[in-house]
Amino acid sequence: MTATNIIPLSTVDWYGRAVTLVFLMGCPFRCQYCHNHALLEMGQLTSEPANIKEIESEIEKNSLFISAVVFTGGECFQQFDALLSLAEFTHDHGLLVGVQTNGYYTDRIKQMIEKRLVDQICMDVKAPLEHDAYLRISGIDAAGRVSDSLKLYKLCERNNIDVETRTTVFPDFIGSPQEIRSIATSIRDLAGDVRYIIQQGMPENAWRHISERAYSRDELISLARNASPILSDVRIRTKESGEECVNANP
Ligand code: SF4
Repeated sequence: MTATNIIPLSTVDWYGRAVTLVFLMGCPFRCQYCHNHALLEMGQLTSEPANIKEIESEIEKNSLFISAVVFTGGECFQQFDALLSLAEFTHDHGLLVGVQTNGYYTDRIKQMIEKRLVDQICMDVKAPLEHDAYLRISGIDAAGRVSDSLKLYKLCERNNIDVETRTTVFPDFIGSPQEIRSIATSIRDLAGDVRYIIQQGMPENAWRHISERAYSRDELISLARNASPILSDVRIRTKESGEECVNANP
């Protein structure tokens, strides 16, 4: 890993906090809309090992003006030993640890919770939690694993870990009203009434051509209203307006 895989300061990856964002390479998924395909060397299933010393020195350098480090990817749990070591280093410097995950490595997520090395978990729920739907969006059938990972959110609650679930949507690809209702219902049944964010996907950054355009903010608000009778904290995230809450009854 080089320093180009680190964003020293981000204010959009943990609501209300300034964080350093660290990208760990490698991912078992092959989402057609992945915008990190160059980083992942898509199609080759390869990943470059993280340079721990380089990342540690970057975290140390930034520690005066951030309050947390967020690990993302790729899928940050793929390089589990590096993630554990960096999380420990982050805590030792008085900073919080966040992870952005696709939910594939259930046992590793559980270990990290039990070791008390994580303070926020943001998990993608990329599609309705059914075999065919997940295969179509993420390139592998991960519905069972993601369901199991969502069940860990009860453990998070007991350990005071902030949790968030997310779906990235694209017109005519993923994010129909039925799909949003199905995903929100699964989240409620498996994880409980946790925060759910519907994110505006940008097709121009995608690995494959999947949509002609992005959903508008108004379209996302309408979509989110399919989830808000099911979950009490539903938000949208758009390029133009950032994060906004969407209530069930406008
Ligand atoms: S899970 Fe994320 S990093 Fe992995 S292929 Fe999908 S979009 Fe890309």
